[in-house]
Amino acid sequence: MDVQQLFKILKKEAECPLCIETVKNPKTLPCLHSFCLECLDRHANFARRQLKATIKCPVCQTSFQIPETYTFENLPSSFHLNRLVDVLALEDGRVQSQRCNSCDENNTATCYCFVCQNFLCASCFEAHQRLKATRGHRNVLMNKLQAQDVQELIHRPVMCSQQYHEDQHLEFYCEDCKVLICHKCTVVSHDRHSKTDTQKAAQEQKMQMADAVAKVKAEIVRYENEIKKQTDLRNRNRIEILNEEKKMTDTVEKLIRDLREHERKMKDKFREIMKRNKNITQRDWKTSSWSSPN
Ligand SMILES: [Zn+2]
Ligand SMILES: [Zn+2]
Ligand SMILES: [Zn+2]
Ligand SMILES: [Zn+2]
Ligand SMILES: [Zn+2]
Ligand SMILES: [Zn+2]
Repeated sequence: MDVQQLFKILKKEAECPLCIETVKNPKTLPCLHSFCLECLDRHANFARRQLKATIKCPVCQTSFQIPETYTFENLPSSFHLNRLVDVLALEDGRVQSQRCNSCDENNTATCYCFVCQNFLCASCFEAHQRLKATRGHRNVLMNKLQAQDVQELIHRPVMCSQQYHEDQHLEFYCEDCKVLICHKCTVVSHDRHSKTDTQKAAQEQKMQMADAVAKVKAEIVRYENEIKKQTDLRNRNRIEILNEEKKMTDTVEKLIRDLREHERKMKDKFREIMKRNKNITQRDWKTSSWSSPN
């Protein structure tokens, strides 16, 4: 796939369904659909003006209570979406570009090193290429990204955002605080908390989700069968009604035919009688004229 095509797909994936733009400050509703915070709050404001206490997710129509603070800023934000937005910004010149995280100059990054997992500005990149230790690292210039690089950037490890932890991967999950933490965090601020490896936590979550999906799928099959049964029953009823109707029409037609037949027979009989009567009258007349004396 070429990089432009990939960016197009990613852009679609990172689109807010409310403003149809790349999502800004994404917030995720409990139904797992994400929107810009601003769009969600505007949506809630509109609902409140209509005296409603809830909003419906614009995608799946699930209802949610509008927070008492009138803003959804406390909803979690999707890490994956944030990452997509970051990577999309690399292609989009209008958005504030990625900064170098190797020095404190706040320069625009021109390169990413996949080994150091750092964005580098032009001067850091120059130093990076000069040093024996880093010279051989695989890196990519921001303006020469290939589809493969973009995929790797999206899936690059996540660094801790705590001060002085910027070079640490988020590799643990604190069960007590429900957050991802780095090795330094485990010692500094989550010492006595129960922690798991992120991979293990993700695996467990994945298994739970697969379980839930399997259950929902079974439910869907059950409902589909029920719908089919009801439809069959309705169709059968319809066929039965049609059959009864036809039977009735047949009976009525047969009765009409019988009546016609009866009518014909009766008419024949009447004609017969009339004919016989006529013959008798003629004979009587003849007999009387012949026998009358004049
Ligand atoms: Zn939006
Ligand atoms: Zn939804
Ligand atoms: Zn730099
Ligand atoms: Zn490097
Ligand atoms: Zn940390
Ligand atoms: Zn903790």
